[in-house]
Amino acid sequence: MSLRVYNTLTRQKELFEPVTPGKVGIYLCGPTVYKPSHIGHAVGPIIFDAIKRYLSHKGYQVSWVINITDVDDKIMDEAARQGRPMSELAGEVEANYRQCLQELGVRGVDHFPRATANIDKIIALVARLVAKGAAYVADGDVYFDHAAAIGYGKLSNRTVEEQMTGTRDLAGENKRHPADFALWKSAKQGEVGWDSPWGRGRPGWHIECSAMSMSLLGETFDIHGGGMDLIFPHHENEIAQSETATGKPFAKYWLHNGLTRIKTKAASGQWQDEKMSKSLGNIRTITELLEKRTGEIIRAFVLGTQYRRPLEFSDEQLDNAAKSLETFYRLFDRLKREAGSDVYAGGQTIEKVHDKATAQEDAAFVDAILRQQLRFYESMDDDFNTATAIAALHGMAGEVNRYLDQHGSAALKGLLAAAAGNTLVATGRILGLFETSPPPPKTDQAQAARIEALIAQRNAARKGRDFAQADEIRKQLLSEGVTLEDTPKGTIWRKG
Ligand SMILES: [Zn+2]
Repeated sequence: MSLRVYNTLTRQKELFEPVTPGKVGIYLCGPTVYKPSHIGHAVGPIIFDAIKRYLSHKGYQVSWVINITDVDDKIMDEAARQGRPMSELAGEVEANYRQCLQELGVRGVDHFPRATANIDKIIALVARLVAKGAAYVADGDVYFDHAAAIGYGKLSNRTVEEQMTGTRDLAGENKRHPADFALWKSAKQGEVGWDSPWGRGRPGWHIECSAMSMSLLGETFDIHGGGMDLIFPHHENEIAQSETATGKPFAKYWLHNGLTRIKTKAASGQWQDEKMSKSLGNIRTITELLEKRTGEIIRAFVLGTQYRRPLEFSDEQLDNAAKSLETFYRLFDRLKREAGSDVYAGGQTIEKVHDKATAQEDAAFVDAILRQQLRFYESMDDDFNTATAIAALHGMAGEVNRYLDQHGSAALKGLLAAAAGNTLVATGRILGLFETSPPPPKTDQAQAARIEALIAQRNAARKGRDFAQADEIRKQLLSEGVTLEDTPKGTIWRKG
């Protein structure tokens, strides 16, 4: 099976062929660390963590970099407002960001370079551009001359005139042309700065990414990622300055994820869509979200949408992700009860036992599981379609439940069902799901007693053939996030 990815640069899906066979370098633009991380900061890392896991599964040796922008006007302003040194604020926000990524199961990042730890490399790259005549110095600032870049605008597919609309000139008035952009900004009195050939100053944002990606992944590397809002000007400028400096292609594949839209309740009580932006403040910090939801739920929510599509963030969508995971957890519980199997322990998968499936019904079951697994791989090979890959996992879960319903758990049936469960977990782990068993539901004893009482009422109603009443109770519990499963040994409940 061959992997195809949508490349923003060529505006089409292309066969994925890394620069160096067997190896893949990925660079993802990271956060500017001045405020606690919100859901928007987690989306890219969760997507690219799944991408890295899949590429590793395919046998590639993957190196993944997320940069930390720890010097910037916004950090300087926020630090001044709080009356603290910039480095202290940046360090604290970075620690929070990395802690959040851990809890979201994002473990594949190999390097988190900080801009302030790479000033020498940034200065060297700026100097290279100045020496080539592609950058000019104006009163302590250094600007990139957009006219020096070959094919400027090729990523965003805009002409220079089109680019001018919406470009804010934030970098001072020393530019020769509005399309030029700052590589180095001179430090005013009392501002943070580093010595450079052009005087004390600090790097521009775009040049940080070029310097750090090329120093860790080489002058030409495989995948550059980020949100669609970074295509212009950030990524366009990264390409311009990098390719002008080296004379080589910069990143081969540009992968951009859709923007996160947040659903909020307006004063009128109506739900409304808003683009995720800083103006929404900290209402959705990841730390806050993790108090109520597991990292696995947030991960399943993000991966439930193909990465290029807009992601709609709301409590309702998180509930849906939690319900989707519940289906799997219930099956895993069932496998423990009926097949004595702990899927989290990683036992043998269906390929290992398929030769035992000689009876027609067993062979058909093994085939159905392998078909769903193939569907998973085909989805991932089609531009990392995690949404249909998760649907294939559900397909697998459905097959196992049906098999258990139809055949009980006689020795071989239990073995095959357990192996199918192990295949499901091993496949889900490629997306970073099912790594550990979910924590016990956050339900206190009084609440548990109430739920048990309602279940008893429901069972009594069913016995008395009052199915309307029984169904009413089930619905009430469901509205509280409690799902029921009727088994030969009684009713089992679970709270999401
Ligand atoms: Zn960047």
